[in-house]
Amino acid sequence: MPEANKKGLLIVVSGPAGSGKGTVLSHLLKAGGYRCSVSATTRAPRPGEVNGVNYHFLTREAFIERIARDEMLEYTEYCGNYYGTPKKEAEEVLASGCNLILEIEVKGAANVKRKYPEAVTIMLLPPTGEVLEARLRGRGTESEEVIQERMAQARNEIAQLRHYDYVVYNYDNRAEEAADIIRRIVFAEGYSTVHHPDITDTYFA
Ligand code: 5GP
Repeated sequence: MPEANKKGLLIVVSGPAGSGKGTVLSHLLKAGGYRCSVSATTRAPRPGEVNGVNYHFLTREAFIERIARDEMLEYTEYCGNYYGTPKKEAEEVLASGCNLILEIEVKGAANVKRKYPEAVTIMLLPPTGEVLEARLRGRGTESEEVIQERMAQARNEIAQLRHYDYVVYNYDNRAEEAADIIRRIVFAEGYSTVHHPDITDTYFA
């Protein structure tokens, strides 16, 4: 009997700083069947970040070379740095039947959807702007100016919501529930006719 799509799905998750992407995605990864793409970037590593784990940290020249060699599935310039998804790794994960999550910003998400219309795009959001601001303040490390910048950035990102397939709200202390909703979206997507071949010629054979 034919079943749901066996090739991994390409899943894009975007969300403003404070949406809790990291926590939600860690719940998804724990359950298995999902891998997160390790992006390449030209930004400097933050304390604790490991090359090849958090990002592939590249010089600008190396990044541009990779673009020229068509080795990026998507890339964008964000806050003065390049960010991109290495194509080879992504294709290998998908071919192995594992779902691949790209945790990328809105421009990259739009590029992926244009190139791979079958990709599932999800925006993860705190339930309200008030909660978002409280989370940004709760970190206690950012100046008022940075908080206001992040809020303005979040507004711009949320303005792109209509270009996404799904929106998932991440309520305080309920990240596991958000991960479960993503799992259920992906489960249903596996049955989408988009991922199934045309069976007109083979069905009655
Ligand atoms: P950060 O510098 O804080 O790690 O990431 C900044 C932004 O870049 C985040 O919104 C993150 O989702 C996005 N980002 C990380 N990797 C990629 C990538 O490979 N492609 C794109 N388009 N955005 C990315």
